[in-house]
Amino acid sequence: MIEVHQLTKRYGRTTAVRDLSFTVRPGHVTGFLGPNGAGKSTTLRLILGLNEPTAGTATVGGRRFRDRPRGLRHVGALLDAGDVHGGRSGRAHLRALARSNALPPGRVEEVLAEVGLAKAAGRRIGGYSLGMKQRLGIAGALLGDPPVLVFDEPLNGLDPEGVHWVRNLFRRLAAEGRTVFVSSHLMSEMAHTADRLVVIGRGELIAAESVAEFAARGTRSGVTVRASEPDRLAGVLAAAGGTVSPDGDGALSVTGLDAAAVGALALEHGVLLQELTAGSASLEQAFMELTADRVDHLAGDPR
Ligand code: ADP
Repeated sequence: MIEVHQLTKRYGRTTAVRDLSFTVRPGHVTGFLGPNGAGKSTTLRLILGLNEPTAGTATVGGRRFRDRPRGLRHVGALLDAGDVHGGRSGRAHLRALARSNALPPGRVEEVLAEVGLAKAAGRRIGGYSLGMKQRLGIAGALLGDPPVLVFDEPLNGLDPEGVHWVRNLFRRLAAEGRTVFVSSHLMSEMAHTADRLVVIGRGELIAAESVAEFAARGTRSGVTVRASEPDRLAGVLAAAGGTVSPDGDGALSVTGLDAAAVGALALEHGVLLQELTAGSASLEQAFMELTADRVDHLAGDPR
């Protein structure tokens, strides 16, 4: 469990995080979302005791992370995959980590196999791709078999196979009862990865809830429907209280009615449906709407 309570962090005149409170529970993959510059990395660094808060507290398992000896047994974290000594091999890097946390060296081979780096473990990290560095960072986070795992933008640089692998890994770790907290600035990455979300904008909390609850906030969360008689169906749906707009290629976008209601109305009026999709885009829509006025002026900067 991660508990953040009225957390504030100022850097000079910039307030990176303002009065932030939320809880990240075990047994879930919780996505930590916000536009670039929203304060995600700052929050993660405060949780991990790498920076001191200006005000408020962040605890892991009820204690400040700093107060934990042998930290890797309590929290595994990957903040910046590039932040490793390029001259070392992957194996040497993990062995040093294991030593400094009093973990058995045999654990290194286990995590190397788990992240698919066993073959590359003897090579210099400097020659690794970003995706391989991400895998190495994840291996480091897993080393102490910790109950809490924190990852900052872990999907960056991974190919589609790598993304698939990471998602399954996160789900498995959560199913084992661990707390898994994963940041991203892209809702599309989190939509298929997380089951809960903490969303921030300009350092302030926007939402802390399930993915389904967050999706329901999007005003344009909608249903896409393709029918043999789109005009007639549009009339039926509008009469039932739906807002219908043609999406240009023959399909209709519907809001105000869920997919089940659209299907039932089509059946009732004998309109043949060719496609009926409950809006997965609504998550993205909710994210855009709720963060639109809180995008940092730095957003878009390649940082
Ligand atoms: P995110 O991870 O969501 O992209 P960050 O936590 O990196 O956001 O940054 C939040 C805000 O705090 C940004 O405006 C950033 O410029 C500022 N900031 C972060 N770290 C520092 C620092 N060490 N010194 C000054 N400003 C910082």
